Amino acid sequence: MLTVKAYAAPSATEPLVPTTIERRDVGADDVLIAIRYAGICHSDIHTVRGEWGDIAYPQVVGHEIVGVVTEVGTDVAKFAIGDRVGVGCMVNSCRECVNCLAGQENYCLNGNTGTYTAVDRDGTITQGGYSTHIVVTQDFVLRVPESIPYEAAAPLLCAGITTYSPLAHWNAGPGKRVAVVGMGGLGHMAVKIAHAMGAEVTVLSQSLAKQEDGLRLGADHYYATSDPETLKKLRNSFDLVINTVSAPLDLNRYLRILALDGVWVSVGAPPEPLPVQVFTLFNNRRSFAGSSIGGIRETQEMLDFCAEHGIASEVELIAASEINDAYERVLASDVRYRFVIDIETLA
Ligand code: NAP
Ligand code: ZN
Ligand code: ZN
Repeated sequence: MLTVKAYAAPSATEPLVPTTIERRDVGADDVLIAIRYAGICHSDIHTVRGEWGDIAYPQVVGHEIVGVVTEVGTDVAKFAIGDRVGVGCMVNSCRECVNCLAGQENYCLNGNTGTYTAVDRDGTITQGGYSTHIVVTQDFVLRVPESIPYEAAAPLLCAGITTYSPLAHWNAGPGKRVAVVGMGGLGHMAVKIAHAMGAEVTVLSQSLAKQEDGLRLGADHYYATSDPETLKKLRNSFDLVINTVSAPLDLNRYLRILALDGVWVSVGAPPEPLPVQVFTLFNNRRSFAGSSIGGIRETQEMLDFCAEHGIASEVELIAASEINDAYERVLASDVRYRFVIDIETLA
């Protein structure tokens, strides 16, 4: 066992605090990673605050992890000491079900092993990336291309793949009108990726405060949903909508922005159910869908796509001691556009 420094939530209502946790010994297929940067995803906040259900405490979260390989198990062929690597939202899956065999471990029928709050194969609860080291089986470790700055690569491991996967699946590209609702961590990556894929990109944000950034990141149009005319004006306008909003929306107002055969994809994950009036779907033969991160193969494809197109996350680098303040700023939609923890400040 390796005792490592970490930042953990002691309960659903208390601030995160410095602590130590145990990482398992490096097994034959395992890679030991010295974590350099860890992104703060809104899912970390939903999780530690118990919004998605009860969890065991103390809990370390963080599933946007980049670092350097410092030790490899005897059967590890994919990675060597010194490699630049990443870990996202999963650290294992059953590897046998039809979805795993199709490379969609994110949809493992037996439940993939999440990077945090999941029961690991050894019965322990997985602990995430707000820590100095992590041990992960080689098949769930990604290669981070050299050309992507390290800290800007971390958010790709969740925000990047969560937006890339539906954009790729629903064929965002030339001639497609894509709307991104909410320009936070996921939203700003959706803008960059959809633009790089060649789509016409529109941002729907609560206000125009981030308009200049949105246009700089690749949006062609930018609207404030606080303006009651916006959704009316945009009726029947989009082939694909990626909804990244972390809070409930009145979908019956929003779904009308879909054009004929348009698809609404919710990736934002408020805990509340969202009532949908089916007549809104009848018009224009609209579809309402969801999407969860992406498989390992697709995550590597996304990292390589970002390297090829020179894109990565816009980050605000923080010390570990600033995590709790960063959470409050995320909750206030005041993040430009992903907080990333410099893990050296934990060591
Ligand atoms: P984030 O940085 O907080 O971004 C969410 C954005 O939603 C905000 O920046 C804001 O954008 C908008 N927003 C927030 N509250 C709103 C409200 N009450 N009404 C309208 N718009 C609001 O969060 P994130 O890290 O991108 O994550 C977004 C959501 O995706 C979270 O629920 C997270 O758990 C979920 N998620 C899902 C997956 C998946 O696999 N499906 C993966 C990762 C995260 P504007 O300021 O532009 O309005
Ligand atoms: Zn996430
Ligand atoms: Zn499986």
